[in-house]
Amino acid sequence: MYRLNEKIRDLTPYQPIKGNYPVRLDANESFLSPPLHVMAKIMEAAATVPYNRYPDSRAAEPCAAFALLHNISAESVTAGNGSDELISVICGAFLMKGDTVMTASPDFAMYRFYSSIDEAKCIEYQKKPDLLINVNAMISAAKEYDVKLILFSNPCNPTSLGLTKAEVRKLLTSVNALVVVDEAYMDFWSESLLQETENYDNLIVLRTCSKAIGMAGIRLGFAVANSTLTNALRAVKSPYNVNALTQKIGSILLSEKEWIRSSAKKIVRSREELYAGLKRAEKNHGGKLEVFPSVTNFVLVRLSGAEQTHRKLLEEGIAVRLLGESYLRITAGNARENAAFLRTFEAALK
Ligand SMILES: *Cc1c(COP(=O)(O)O)cnc(C)c1O
Repeated sequence: MYRLNEKIRDLTPYQPIKGNYPVRLDANESFLSPPLHVMAKIMEAAATVPYNRYPDSRAAEPCAAFALLHNISAESVTAGNGSDELISVICGAFLMKGDTVMTASPDFAMYRFYSSIDEAKCIEYQKKPDLLINVNAMISAAKEYDVKLILFSNPCNPTSLGLTKAEVRKLLTSVNALVVVDEAYMDFWSESLLQETENYDNLIVLRTCSKAIGMAGIRLGFAVANSTLTNALRAVKSPYNVNALTQKIGSILLSEKEWIRSSAKKIVRSREELYAGLKRAEKNHGGKLEVFPSVTNFVLVRLSGAEQTHRKLLEEGIAVRLLGESYLRITAGNARENAAFLRTFEAALK
């Protein structure tokens, strides 16, 4: 009789929220769609993709568009089927069985998940109640446990707080580990190390089209690193990991520099609106609610009775993310969605 091995025996498939919610503020997606003339370009291009052929294994066209957008060399860019795939490829390739990985907590859960599938030992840097990373403490732990790989999001999902460039540089030069800085939300902030990957032999920066660019559905992410790391990544990824249609659509969207800039601005404005509304609620319900500052497209709050509030919001057709027992993460939506959320949230607090 065949038995599943113990590392996968108790796993269950990732389960996004079930049910139909008119207001979706739970997955940090963008509420904006590309303008009609860009959609028209996409439709036209989709009709001419040679679907009978395998796609370009290098995904050269979207990599070039991404490089141009950020003024970096296309030679430093590797595309993935979402940055999620790249996290999996990095853990699979840069870790040997039994190596020690360091992640932070709270942070994006996939780092720990892929390291465990790859049979690495995982240690977690526990953030303090202020939810910040102390870089010196992280460096000490990396040395103490002979850590081979450090993964964290900057700015962080779900805390929405981040490390400055200077802090990340210090980490990079103080450890022997490979450091993966997941900048999924960096389009909303300004502490990116994307321009500096050539300066380090141990840095991979990850970016995604799923957040600011509003294309979670096409699955496209990028890893940026020096040539040695890039060659390794290209050698270990599956050859046709980014499909032809995604390559085409991604190339078109990434060339829309003005639209990307203005979308990020609109999303930040919406987050400021959401944040201001939550701060008002914080004031009105002293002690019950704590709102954390945000540099991303979502806001994290600590709330007594978060589970109950989460349930009430769902009953009203509003999905936000419940984290543990006392945190809610709310994605910035359009004006109507933010207003609907704030109205229901305030009512639930009473
Ligand atoms: C949303 C998110 C991603 C994006 O993953 P994709 O696979 O590119 O959609 C990566 N990292 C973090 C921290 C995220 O929140």
